Amino acid sequence: MSLASAQPAVEDRAADLYPPAAFRALHRSYVERILRAPVYDIAIETPLQSAPRLSAALGNRVLLKREDLQPVHSFKIRGACARVSALDEQARNRGVITASAGNHAQGLALAAQQRGIGAIIVMPLNTPEIKLQGVRSRGAEVVLYGSSFAESLAYAIGLAETRGHTFVPPYDDPDVIAGQGTVGLELLRQHQGPLAAIFVPVGGGGLIAGIAAYVKYLRPEVRIIGVEPVGSNCLQAALAADERVILSQVDSFADGVAVAQVGAHNFELCRHLVDEVITVTTDQICLAVRDIYEDTRSITEPAGALAAAGIRAYVGREGCTGQVLIGINSGANIDFANLGLVAERAGRGDQERKG
Ligand SMILES: *Cc1c(COP(=O)(O)O)cnc(C)c1O
Repeated sequence: MSLASAQPAVEDRAADLYPPAAFRALHRSYVERILRAPVYDIAIETPLQSAPRLSAALGNRVLLKREDLQPVHSFKIRGACARVSALDEQARNRGVITASAGNHAQGLALAAQQRGIGAIIVMPLNTPEIKLQGVRSRGAEVVLYGSSFAESLAYAIGLAETRGHTFVPPYDDPDVIAGQGTVGLELLRQHQGPLAAIFVPVGGGGLIAGIAAYVKYLRPEVRIIGVEPVGSNCLQAALAADERVILSQVDSFADGVAVAQVGAHNFELCRHLVDEVITVTTDQICLAVRDIYEDTRSITEPAGALAAAGIRAYVGREGCTGQVLIGINSGANIDFANLGLVAERAGRGDQERKG
């Protein structure tokens, strides 16, 4: 559990203990960065939609923030736009580089293309053709290197140094965090009534750090709840240890959040602003993909359904009713061939729930 939920009441808190003064200044600087983040030339303000069927099943009002409807079908376009916009002219001329097999690659490729900036994406040798196409079709140069993501990453960082490209990290960067934080800004504008909690999927912590920074600044009573797969719970482990631990194994079923260690900038925000992290099983994630389908007729990728899975788990644990709970539908990039497996496991998630 984080410090945020353990803090004493305002009146008996020594002013210099929590949060530290340095954090308050940092917090404010993130809110300013979010307010200024130039993302809307490419990103859209996504709808916040009610999920009537899931709401009825859970006895609470569930709203879904439809980031799966972004161009590139994930929120990653926001952080990429914010980071690329912050480059000076010399850096723009030299271009950007990253390593990614997934949604960050497509977000950066599109953000760079729209701003006329060259982009190189290093991807592991075994990257599926569909993802290579997704990046190439947005004008980026793909360099295939390494048998694992870690090898691609090391190679990309090396290339950035020798060729002078700017390396754009997927989450551990203040501008990327600010870009993702625009989701929080939209949420508070779109829903102005009582709000109990916002559920956010967590990989390296860019999305949750940005949302938490904005929402806690304006509405500190709203709970910010991270959701991670049981087998890739790097933020939960870091909050428990009060330091960034490295997971020895990472379950990659929800590939969008398969990260071994939460980012440094991300952890600094999360340890002060995130109330708790809930973990869910693969079967619970697949059930949530089905829940979302039944309310929206849209299919999310496993990471994209994490928040909805977390809402089910939270309501089951708390037994709360009549509350407004928001979940971030973070992305929809799933290989068509994997849908059968998800459908089959959704049945098991249902058994687990009833069992
Ligand atoms: C990147 C991603 C996440 C996790 O975001 P972080 O900023 O790394 O925590 C969740 N869902 C989807 C679909 C993603 O692409």
